[in-house]
Parts: sequence; structure tokens; C-alpha cells
Amino acid sequence: MKINDNFSRLEQSYFFMTIVTKTNEYAKNNPDKQIIKLGIGDVTLPLGPVVIDAMQKAVSEMSKASTLRGYGPEQGYEFTQKAVQGYYKRKGVDLETGEIFISDGAGTDIGNTSELFDMDNTVLIPNPVYPAYVDTNLMAGRKVVLIEGNIENNFLPMPDENTIADIIYLCSPNNPTGAVYSKAQLQEWVDFANKNDAVIIFDAAYEAFPLDKSFPTSIYQISGAKKCAIEICSFSKYAGFTGIRCGFTVVPHELKRGPASLNKMWFRRQTTKFNGVSYITQRGAQAALSEEGIKQAHANLDYYRENAKIIVDTLRKLGIWFTGGENSPYVWFKCPNGMTSWEFFDYLLCECQIVGTPGAGFGQCGEGFFRLSSFGKREDVITAMQRLTTAHKFHIN
Ligand code: PLP
Repeated sequence: MKINDNFSRLEQSYFFMTIVTKTNEYAKNNPDKQIIKLGIGDVTLPLGPVVIDAMQKAVSEMSKASTLRGYGPEQGYEFTQKAVQGYYKRKGVDLETGEIFISDGAGTDIGNTSELFDMDNTVLIPNPVYPAYVDTNLMAGRKVVLIEGNIENNFLPMPDENTIADIIYLCSPNNPTGAVYSKAQLQEWVDFANKNDAVIIFDAAYEAFPLDKSFPTSIYQISGAKKCAIEICSFSKYAGFTGIRCGFTVVPHELKRGPASLNKMWFRRQTTKFNGVSYITQRGAQAALSEEGIKQAHANLDYYRENAKIIVDTLRKLGIWFTGGENSPYVWFKCPNGMTSWEFFDYLLCECQIVGTPGAGFGQCGEGFFRLSSFGKREDVITAMQRLTTAHKFHIN
């Protein structure tokens, strides 16, 4: 018996544990101080009433033998697939229901979709990055190459003539940087993938945030993308489903490599290894994509958008370089006075009682940067930004 030794290639995840330990220690030593947490990417507002109604109705159906639902289709109920299809139609994207696979969240399929590919592929991942792309591929034993995001490219790295990749992970709007690729930039990536026979895994978990219609919110708004891209999406941030668990993955029929249809492979994989998302959850997801559901989801998103604006306005006033915040719930900025991201974490905790996320936790290229999330309470964001403004160190920078 041999264990999967690839797990030893993973960095130990001390990162979030260290944040919690440092925060708890500070709280214990300073019981009179009010700590504001702007680190996490979890939602705080309740689900839309239309979603709650739909889920309660679904629960009632489960109470009668005549309307009980047992196992559903592994790829999702047709009513959910149709709701997603309608949502894409609004974006100008035509999908067949057979191209839409309902999942229990984007996180699951980020890992699972890599099963479609051989171990002997080079995986290209922008850095800094949501850690799941790197870790799932390291666990599988693939070669991972990082492409650098920095201030010069606005944390939106692009391929060039030396870029080598078989599988490419893109996330836009991005976690952690909040940066959003333009149509022209995504076109370049799609053209690169089609020219080099690569496949793009496009993480659209934050697609609902941009209000500026010039930003693509689906890779399929880009010409040629159905031939080279899988899109993974989530109800978590759009409709506050982080605790409900629902997402979907789009695998177009046009996506083929040789005689193999990736759609057929994914269907085969799902019907073997997955037993579908609960009926109650899917009724909630369907409601979240109704006219009223979209309105209610955007009322919550507007709240987070306004929080992000308060953060962004403060950083702008303080003359701190940042990206994100305008089409994304995350604001990514340069640590003042040349501090490392952990030095700034300590500074922010001890001087301002604000907890954020050090950029170094998202990879080497995140060192010297910091992420604040807009998913908190309005009054907390306002107080945090007042504290940040008065913290004297900023005026030295
Ligand atoms: N992708 C990105 C970029 C994320 O930031 C997250 C969660 O924070 C996920 C995927 C996971 O989403 P889900 O809750 O649908 O698993």
C-alpha cells in the first residue's frame, strides 16, 4: 500500500490558523477593545425572502408521500438548469440545459473538474490566487506553473510567447485581488488556449458583482470560448448560499479534445460519483434566479458594494495603491511604508483593531499586499475606515 505522497507537496495551512490565533490572543490581552473583522469572504446578510419561501414550500412537499422527492438527477433538476439557462440568456449567452451541471458549490467542482485531465499536463495559475486551484492540482500530482500578478499588470497577468500551459485557471472578478479582466484580455486568453490546445477553467464565483456592463461576467461572452473553457459558478456570493451550498458548472458540447467530448466525460463522472444537490436547495436556487430573486440578491450585493466603496474611498484619500473594490467585494492594496503583509496585519490589529487577510497567504506574489473584504456590517466598515484614517503611520507614507 502506498499513500498519495503528493499531499506532502502541499504547504501546511497554518495561514488562517495564525490569523485566528493572533486575533484571539490580542482579544484576550485587550478585553476592552472592539475588534472589527474584515478578513473573511463569507456573507452576512440573510437570504432573499423569495428564496426562503421557495425552500419552505419545498420542505412542505417533503412532508407528503405524494410530493416527496427522493434521488434527483445527478446533473440537477431541469427547473434549475432552465433557471441558469435563463440567467445566461440575460448575459447574451445561449446554453443548452445539457451543458449545465448543478453542483453543491464552486469549491467542489474546482477540485473535481481536474479529474477530466491526465496527470501529465502543465497547469498555469495566476499568483496571487485562491488557494484551491494550486492545491487540488498538487494533490493530483500535476506540474503547476505560476504566472505573476503585480502592480505593473494590475494583478491581471496575460500570456506571452513563452507561456506554456495545458490547463489554465482564471478567476474574474478575482479573489483575492478584486481585479477584473476586460473583454479584450479574456479574448487574448481564449485565443491563446485555442491556439495551444489548452483548456481554461474559468471561476466566475463573483460574476454578479460588476455593474459596468463592459466587463465580461462569463467566459462565454468571449468568442471561441465554448471550444476551450469550462465555467464554474456559485450561488454563494450572488445569493448568500455559502451555508446552503449550491453552484453549477458549464461544460459546453463544443468542448472536445480529439474524439472526446468533455461534456460527456463530465456527465459520466457526475453520474458515477455525485448524487445531486438536494431538491430543497435547488428550489431555493431556482427562486434566486427569478426576476424577484435577482432583485433581492442585488439589494444585498448593493449593500456589500457600498461597503467596498467606503473602503476604496478611504484608501484613495490616503494615497494607498489598490485594485478591486469597484466590481468585486474584495479590496487589494499595497501595505503602507514597505511593510510585509504580516507586519501590516499586526499593525492593523494592534493599532486599529481591524482584522484583514495578509496577501502572502495567497502566494508569493501577494507578499507586501493586503485584502479587505466588504462582506461585513456597514457600521463596522465605517468605524474601521475611521480608525485607519486616524492611524498616524499612514500619514508618514
Ligand atoms: N471560487 C472562489 C474564487 C472563491 O472565492 C470561493 C469561495 O470563497 C469559491 C470558489 C468557493 O465557492 P463555493 O462556496 O461555491 O464553494
